[in-house]
Order: sequence, then structure tokens, then C-alpha cells
Amino acid sequence: MSNAEFEALRGQLDDINLKLLDLINERGKLVKEIGKVKEKQGVHRFDPVRERSMLDLILDKNEGPFETSTLQHLFKEIFKAGLELQEDDNRKALLVSRKKKPEDTIVDIKGEKIGDGHTHFVVGPCAVESYEQVSQVAEAIKNKGLKLMRGGAFKPRSSPYDFQGLGLEGLKILKRVADEHDLAVISEIVTPSDLEQAVEYLDVIQIGARNMQNFELLKAAGSIDKPILLKRGLSATISEFINAAEYIMSRGNGNIILCERGIRTYETATRNTLDISAVPILKQETHLPVMVDVTHSTGRRDLLLPTAKAGIAIGADGIMAEVHPDPAVALSDSAQQMDIPTFNDFIDQLRSSMVKA
Ligand code: PEP
Ligand code: MN
Repeated sequence: MSNAEFEALRGQLDDINLKLLDLINERGKLVKEIGKVKEKQGVHRFDPVRERSMLDLILDKNEGPFETSTLQHLFKEIFKAGLELQEDDNRKALLVSRKKKPEDTIVDIKGEKIGDGHTHFVVGPCAVESYEQVSQVAEAIKNKGLKLMRGGAFKPRSSPYDFQGLGLEGLKILKRVADEHDLAVISEIVTPSDLEQAVEYLDVIQIGARNMQNFELLKAAGSIDKPILLKRGLSATISEFINAAEYIMSRGNGNIILCERGIRTYETATRNTLDISAVPILKQETHLPVMVDVTHSTGRRDLLLPTAKAGIAIGADGIMAEVHPDPAVALSDSAQQMDIPTFNDFIDQLRSSMVKA
């Protein structure tokens, strides 16, 4: 065989490959069409009886040189790829997913743009206790050039005998102090019926860890026009966390900030275990900004600074931490809230470490 003849044979092979390519893709298109019909009818995509009859047809018609078993194996692979194509099509991309929206969502809170690539801080007392207490913290926040203040008015406590928060009175204090210092406020709401009133006082509604799967609250939060800070549940997987955010977004509110606040593990050295790798996973899987709450995850004052550094280093959009003018007398979380000098030092150290990096 001459060289030219050999090259001609190779050329024919290339032509056949291209024909096969066209045919396989054409088959793929048909399979997708069939998948849509099956989805509408609610029938299973995988139909072993139908596969068997397709394989039997190959057995019937095969004239060689390939063995029927070899061909059946090849066709089985093509069937499998077709099934995957149908599944990909039907697996609905979540609204919160990067697949649905590749660009980062930026949540604007009175000009503070969470998710803009800078580190933002949400600080304030665990619970609102008095006007004076909140004012002192607001002053400290302002002095550091920060904008976002937190404070609990409706406190979800493990014991019904512990301080439950000042309720509406607490929201009023937060609003008054925030207005006086030109700050934005974040506070937790635990009941859907309280949301309507809360939006008058708050700039961000927090849904706490214990309510991450309170689906009625999530749906109600999805129907209001206010940013939502959603905390990860105590024992929630990342997928459950993402789906909780989806509940909110599916109702029309896409202004959501996710907050990793530690999960329950067997470890007792910290109050919870800060799942630091959740941050990049959430950033990859969703387009939402992600914060790290260093207070509730660690429950330890000595770990606030290193975990905040870790959060920033791993790509968190913000850090939440609790600050109280006199933590020793705080009505909740007294062991881990920072006093004001400690808070000042905390911010200074983080800022200098960020500059160094
Ligand atoms: C809080 O932030 O006040 C709080 C109660 O946090 P978590 O829901 O994460 O426990
Ligand atoms: Mn607290």
C-alpha cells in the first residue's frame, strides 16, 4: 500500500469519526427531548425494559466484525451518557447557586457593600440591655469607622428562665442609637408575624441558627424588602444551609448574607466547631456573601482574633463579633463578649494583619 493510499484510509476514518460525532450528538438532542416529556409525565428517566430492547436490536442487526458484547458495551456507555444529559437538564439549578448567577451578589446596607471584596464587621452586644449599654458600643463602633451594629432584642435562649431579650423595646433602642450615630442595625427576628414591625426599626433581619430551618420564617423573610443575615443551623449540613437560603430567595428576596457560626461536633474545647472550610465552599456554590461569626462559633474570647484572621484569610466577606461595655455583667454570652478596649485592639490587629497580607 502506498503512503498516499494509507493516508486516504486514515482520512476515511476521520470522516467516520465526524459522522459518529454528529450522530451521537443528534442522539443526545433526541434524548433530551424525550427527557422533557418524561419529566412532564413524571415517569422515571431510566427505563431498563427499553434499554434491553435497544440492546436486543443491536444483537439482531449486528453483522460484525465487532462482537455483539463489545457493541452492547459501547452502546451501554452511550445510553448512560444520555441519561446523565437528561439529569443535568432536569436538575434545577438553585437560585442562590453560582450556576444560576456567576457574579457575586453584593448586599448594600446603607452604603456598606457586603461582598464587594472588602472585609466588613458586624459588632455589638449579644443582647440589647439598655439605651446606655448600646450607646457605649455604638460610640466605639463609630470611633473605629465601622457602620454595622448588631444587638439581640428577641433572644432564642436554651432555657426559658434565661433573659429573653427586651423585644420591641430593644428594637426601638437599637434604632434610636443607630440614628444618633448614623449606623445600620442588624437584629434577630424569631417569629414571622414580628417581621412586619421589625422592618421599621432594622436595616438587616437576622435569622438565627436555631431558626435556620423554620421554613415559615424563611418564607416570610423572602417576602420582605430587607436584607437577611441567615446563620447556619447548629447541626445543618452545607446543603441544608444553602437550601434554607433558597427558601428566602425563592420568595423574591435575594439580599441574603450567609453566616457560618460554628456547628455541633464532639469537640468540647470550643462552644461550637468553626467550620472554616464552609466559607470557600459557600462562596463557590453560591453567589451570596459569607460572614464568619467568631463569637458564637468559638465561645472563647482568646480565639476571637485568630479565628477572625482565619475567616478573612479564607475569603469571608465579613466578621461578626460581640462587644459589651462590661461583659462580666452581661445578661447573655458574658464569657465571650469583648469589652471596648479589647474590641479596639481586635480591630487594630486585624487591620494591621490585613495590610501586611
Ligand atoms: C446571635 O447572633 O445573637 C445568636 C443567637 O447567634 P446564633 O443564632 O448563631 O446562635
Ligand atoms: Mn450571643
